[in-house]
Amino acid sequence: MIAPLSPVHLGPGAAVLAFDVGGTDTKATLVDTSGALLDTVRVPTPLSVDGTGDAVLAQVEALAARFRAAHPTIDIRAAGLIVPGLVDDESGIGVFSENIGWKNVPFRDLASERLGVPVYFTHDVRAAGAAEYTLGSAGQYSNVLVVVIGTGIASAIFVDGRPYSAHGYAGEIGHAVVDPGGVLCACGGHGCLEAIGSAGAISRLYRAGLGTADPVDNAIGAREVLERAQAGDLRAQKVWSDATDAIGLALAQSVALLAPEAIVIGGGLAQAGDALFGPVEKRMNSFLTFHRRPVLLPATVGENAGLVGAALGARRILTAEPTTEPTTAS
Ligand SMILES: [Zn+2]
Repeated sequence: MIAPLSPVHLGPGAAVLAFDVGGTDTKATLVDTSGALLDTVRVPTPLSVDGTGDAVLAQVEALAARFRAAHPTIDIRAAGLIVPGLVDDESGIGVFSENIGWKNVPFRDLASERLGVPVYFTHDVRAAGAAEYTLGSAGQYSNVLVVVIGTGIASAIFVDGRPYSAHGYAGEIGHAVVDPGGVLCACGGHGCLEAIGSAGAISRLYRAGLGTADPVDNAIGAREVLERAQAGDLRAQKVWSDATDAIGLALAQSVALLAPEAIVIGGGLAQAGDALFGPVEKRMNSFLTFHRRPVLLPATVGENAGLVGAALGARRILTAEPTTEPTTAS
């Protein structure tokens, strides 16, 4: 269960815990005062069948107890908790998660009660985006879009150096329509970017075209689709180019609206490297005229970007806490 240490380092600061609650697994880590991820674990995420998020909170509490028992000399000052779904950072509420099953759970306050330390709470992709923005290759820019392409597609937006979330509704580039009336999306819409350009969609659309499929074909993921495309499979080539065209179009629209200096692409699909970045950049640029062209950068923080972003946020609330000095009203 103990994963290898992440090479990512946050630098000196308070010791904090970080929890990344995913649709399948929950990752947790203890960041020490040097900024190293000391002890990273991965456990299955419990389903929240009653809609309260209690099972998730109980698991977070148990993991925290385990870290404290294993590292009794470390003074844990705060924690960062990140979850998927619709998240209102400002009020600390997990508004909705279809996958894990909760509605309007005040995670920030409940987690803080259970852990006995202040808790930073946000959306998983915004946390990963913050890690990329703070520690990754886009750190020199003020206006940045971080797009995570995996099973789904979501993004984190930084405007003039600050994250922009609009109570959790911003950044949902995966549900921007790129093909009106097109293929059905999990959100109920048609032709969303996520339904065409995500790793999940690439796998699904390719398999759907196979017809009476060999059971082995059920295991064909986006990586295999790309391999088949590169080996000359015409259907795989079509699915891949439809995906990169859709991503390029959505990025061009984002450029027109936000004018990012850099767009960072992470998530599983980014591992395709030039086979993704090449056609996406070409397609995006084909739509741009007078616009400022952003640089496209691969994510560099790695698979623990969410945890790192959660830990950075936890440290930030400590430094942002109001002073306890008495104040004089003027
Ligand atoms: Zn959608």
